[in-house]
Amino acid sequence: MADPIRTQVLVVGGGPGGYVAAIRASQLGLDTVLIEVDRLGGTCLIRGCIPSKALIHVAGQFEAMVRATGQGVHGIVLNAPPSIALSETVRWKEGVVDKLNAGVAALLKRAKVRVIKGWATFSNGKTCSVDTAEGKLEVTAEHVILANGSLPVALPNIPFGGPVISSTEALMLDALPRRLVVIGAGYIGLELGIALRKLGAEVTIVEALDRILPLYDPPLVEPVRRWLEKNGVTVHLEAKALSVERIGDSAHLIAETKQGTKRLPADKILVTVGRRPNTQGWGLESMAVDMDGRFVKTDDQCRTSMRNVWAVGDLVGEPMLEHKATKQGEMVAEIIAGHRRRFEPASIPAVCFTEPEIVNAGLLPSDKAAKDAVVTLFPFSANGRALSMDAAEGFVRIVSRKDNHRILGIQAVGAHVSELSGEFSLALEMGAVLEDIAGTIHVHPTLGEAFHEAAWRALGQPIHI
Ligand code: FAD
Ligand code: FAD
Repeated sequence: MADPIRTQVLVVGGGPGGYVAAIRASQLGLDTVLIEVDRLGGTCLIRGCIPSKALIHVAGQFEAMVRATGQGVHGIVLNAPPSIALSETVRWKEGVVDKLNAGVAALLKRAKVRVIKGWATFSNGKTCSVDTAEGKLEVTAEHVILANGSLPVALPNIPFGGPVISSTEALMLDALPRRLVVIGAGYIGLELGIALRKLGAEVTIVEALDRILPLYDPPLVEPVRRWLEKNGVTVHLEAKALSVERIGDSAHLIAETKQGTKRLPADKILVTVGRRPNTQGWGLESMAVDMDGRFVKTDDQCRTSMRNVWAVGDLVGEPMLEHKATKQGEMVAEIIAGHRRRFEPASIPAVCFTEPEIVNAGLLPSDKAAKDAVVTLFPFSANGRALSMDAAEGFVRIVSRKDNHRILGIQAVGAHVSELSGEFSLALEMGAVLEDIAGTIHVHPTLGEAFHEAAWRALGQPIHI
């Protein structure tokens, strides 16, 4: 074994939580080692956020061309329908991933973080051995930041393999499945199911609960439901996926639906029933940290129950989102460097990159704490920019306090609304009241004007509705 490495900060996991923690720690003058077994960038860059959004982008362009075929749309006429070479799409997507992966490596190098490629296994709270291509290495640190991330959940009776795939394989398909069955109508299943439908697959969704995207309230989800209906996606609600019958390369999914047991034919079955924290196989047991259900338990500074062992990102709980992981990673590095920080965001905004997109920041009208709040909505059908993009569906909604007009929550559903999420979060983080938004000049014509107008409407003085 090579000489043991001693460092001030050891980060395990090169996903968004880990690599951001490592860069910040090193920037703040702490000697930092990062261990990653796979490619730098983690789930998000390599097999999650970025590749899924690349596929969604291509699917949107393809669908627009399909719509322009024959009769044409807005005067654009394609004489023949487009075709898709999915392997080329995947190759382009890999190029985007490679660029970001190389970018993360360069940032770590510039920050002088020592990166070790290998699998870390802890023998106690501050020491791990790393299996590298060159042999074993021992690393001991004053502070350990755990950022081991999460993995797709498998259904016990429908294990991954053959036609049964997770989001990881769905982002690497070299040919379009003719028939796709998606189990689980959460955001990952819907984003990928919608993209593959746009590319031409026949898509069936099986969801155990009585609605899609169960975390959001029905009005917010309704435009997505309508899109699925209009585009021939069959959705079985209150339906349970039971088992798979394999027939050569394809399969039947056996599902208990409201209409009885169904055999749903599929070339691929995409299982998106959630993600679980990656807590096994790396000696977490020997670190003796407390757990909070499936997750590593942390406080509002991301401290675990063991001194100087910290944990961030998907490993520590919901919501399992990239921007939560990075914020926690950055914060922990600063606390170790002596800064006073706490993880107490006004909101962790979330976006579903569905068709149309959904944004939520802060409280939903259905949240208990919003019981007495005023809920105001401005429809995109009255927004010039939305109409000019032929995207009149959807709205911006504000949840505000009756007494002092403080904004508690902001939601939107519609085309491109993901880009409004920054303004929504800023408003909540700054403690904005309705008058702040109504008094801010918003560029015309933009979708953001719908936020401005919703604030005026909540104040009882709308101009454009
Ligand atoms: P991860 O990104 O999972 O990184 C953990 C890393 O640790 C991995 O690279 C792993 O190899 C490494 N590791 C684990 N154990 C060890 C060990 N013992 N030794 C060495 N290395 C180890 N979030 C969003 O905010 N927006 C989105 O649009 C979005 N889209 C998504 C789409 C899909 C299809 C998926 C699957 C996820 C998506 N997410 C999205 C979620 C996002 O990817 C995660 O929240 C984020 O990656 C969590 O970051 P993390 O650093 O906690 O963990
Ligand atoms: P999920 O969203 O978990 O969806 C899986 C779906 O599969 C569920 O609807 C479930 O009913 C269904 N299902 C399970 N088993 C079966 C079966 N056998 N047959 C049929 N259907 C089945 N995400 C966000 O995007 N934004 C947030 O703000 C956010 N906040 C969260 C807050 C909390 C308290 C929790 C618990 C989760 C939150 N999440 C949020 C979700 C999140 O972070 C998950 O990582 C993410 O939802 C995983 O995506 P998914 O699509 O794979 O699974």
